[in-house]
Amino acid sequence: MTVVMGRVGPQVRDCGECTLCCTAMAVPELDKANGIKCEHECGNCGIYAERPTSCASFECLWLQGVGPIAMRPDKTGAVLVSEIDKIKGEAVVMYMDPERPDPKQNNYLHGMILACLDSDVHIVVVDGTNDQTIYEGRTPR
Ligand code: SF4
Ligand code: SF4
Repeated sequence: MTVVMGRVGPQVRDCGECTLCCTAMAVPELDKANGIKCEHECGNCGIYAERPTSCASFECLWLQGVGPIAMRPDKTGAVLVSEIDKIKGEAVVMYMDPERPDPKQNNYLHGMILACLDSDVHIVVVDGTNDQTIYEGRTPR
């Protein structure tokens, strides 16, 4: 699966107190897996000036302006990323907070899953280091 880091629009938001991607997502340069809190996360980034490129270049969909402002990842429990899967095609990946691993417990995330099931977009839920659940959208017309 290849992560599409492209910006959806001009960045109009900032991370504020959110640091969820520092736990929910892997950082290859640090040999850190999905679902494991980064050793440098201390309410912000303890090595901000020297943080890895994958951290410095990352913008989740919320940061790019997708979704309601109140649905910041630390509020919902999921970092949302748009990815292209070679087999599945367009997908939204939910990298879950390991302390809140079930997206159906959050109305916003559950609603997104239901909407995608009625569209051509697939949802991949990454829960923990390796576990994935795939919700398949309709076959593209
Ligand atoms: S999950 Fe998104 S909003 Fe939260 S810290 Fe990471 S990039 Fe910023
Ligand atoms: S190095 Fe900094 S930005 Fe990167 S995951 Fe760790 S705390 Fe987050």
